[in-house]
Amino acid sequence: MSAAEGAAEALPENVLTRDLSQFKNPELAKGLIDSIQALAPESCALMEVCGTHTVSIARAGIRAIMPEGTRLLSGPGCPVCVTANRDIDTVIALCRIPDVTITTFGNMTRVPGSTSSLLAEKAAGRSVEIVYSPLDALRYAQEHPERQVIFVGVGFETTTPLIAMAIRRAKQMGLTNFTVFVAHKNMPGALEAIVSDPSLQVDALILPGHVSTITGMAPYQFLAERYGIPGVITGFEPVDVLQGIAMLMRQLHEGRAEIEIAYTRGVRAEGNPVALAAIDEVFETCTATWRGLGPIPGSGYHIRPEFAEFDAVERFHPEVEPTIEPRGCRCGDVLRGAITPKACPHFNRSCTPENPVGPCMVSSEGSCAAYYRYYR
Ligand code: SF4
Ligand code: SF4
Repeated sequence: MSAAEGAAEALPENVLTRDLSQFKNPELAKGLIDSIQALAPESCALMEVCGTHTVSIARAGIRAIMPEGTRLLSGPGCPVCVTANRDIDTVIALCRIPDVTITTFGNMTRVPGSTSSLLAEKAAGRSVEIVYSPLDALRYAQEHPERQVIFVGVGFETTTPLIAMAIRRAKQMGLTNFTVFVAHKNMPGALEAIVSDPSLQVDALILPGHVSTITGMAPYQFLAERYGIPGVITGFEPVDVLQGIAMLMRQLHEGRAEIEIAYTRGVRAEGNPVALAAIDEVFETCTATWRGLGPIPGSGYHIRPEFAEFDAVERFHPEVEPTIEPRGCRCGDVLRGAITPKACPHFNRSCTPENPVGPCMVSSEGSCAAYYRYYR
């Protein structure tokens, strides 16, 4: 549970409803839009790097009310979308091993790999179960001692602590039929790849709210200090997003580059030390390959040797088929913010949410799915 969710639980419902309604308040929104208009430079590109922001911006029509020279770009915000084809193929290879049950989030089952998907494998008789958390997967393993249960973990720092807790608990319980395929990633390396790419020219970053409840501000400081790029951590209601953009515009207007928090009801500067300690106990960072961005040192997680018995790849050594990227799919360029989904020749033709060619059309928070829903 995130700090934001924890705080929400402590409030009586009427207070919560009243307070959250402020974040949809048209008057507040209008004041922020006026500030954005007044402060925006002649031209600038702001990038959001969180799938929930991608959807909020699209749903609230925020792109359409930006000043003429302001571009809102979508970056690598959805962990399902950034999972490399090779990782999907590895999971499919694991799923074909006798007595294995794959447990994962619903979105992951629909992502096409080189020649199959988990959904297709399930239809062909393999064992694939949808769960809502790694702790559900752990319970499934306890209830099915005859199966080797593999949890496929994707996500950023918001979900990594939960996986760490599940692995720790499995070790305490002495479970021998539970392992994890870790495709978890962290944001800073990907942000560095984006801001240092001269072809992208990102001027400021709308930073993720949920992830930052865990990480706090520290991992983003390099953006301001080394690259002179301002960043604002913000929430997900329309007023949150507008406030984040207004704060970025003020920094650009004043020639400042700092990391600021607009989402103060959810994020503390130091993050969540307990969750960070859980990650650190079970995982070490490693090079991870991102769809669209390639291998990025330090941006992924590997299970520490002390917990190696819970590493699905170490235990099963799957034989993975050669990777074939989907022909014509521009997910890589979409995830870097180099093109919008409409520039992909498959968009709304051969690629739709019902028949996705690439992962950005699968996940409800993928850019292509958001464009399909709101900008078709
Ligand atoms: S679709 Fe799922 S995995 Fe992707 S960003 Fe949203 S919650 Fe995370
Ligand atoms: S529209 Fe489909 S094929 Fe094109 S980039 Fe998006 S997911 Fe890939």
